[in-house]
Amino acid sequence: MAARPRDSAPSPARRCPACRAPTLRQLVGNRAALTVTADLTPLTPEQQNAVREPNRLIWCLRTNQLGIRRLVWLDAWHPPDCPHDHVTDHICPPDPTTLF
Ligand SMILES: [Zn+2]
Ligand SMILES: [Zn+2]
Repeated sequence: MAARPRDSAPSPARRCPACRAPTLRQLVGNRAALTVTADLTPLTPEQQNAVREPNRLIWCLRTNQLGIRRLVWLDAWHPPDCPHDHVTDHICPPDPTTLF
């Protein structure tokens, strides 16, 4: 039997090697395939507005019947009352021990 294509294989949640935050790393296909490392902490609508900027995308986090999580591109017609969790690209929080 043919193996499943690599980029549709389920991506297990894993921790950021730098800050240990739970993240989901996944190849998201849209106009161009993009490898995304997303936070697994859902954002409130206020937080989404606060973090939304050109270089930081918001993702819709869907979980299918098999418990496999998948990031979905938030396009312009994404419902504002979407029942799924919305997350954003993972950016390590500033480490207080590295401050001057
Ligand atoms: Zn959504
Ligand atoms: Zn991190």
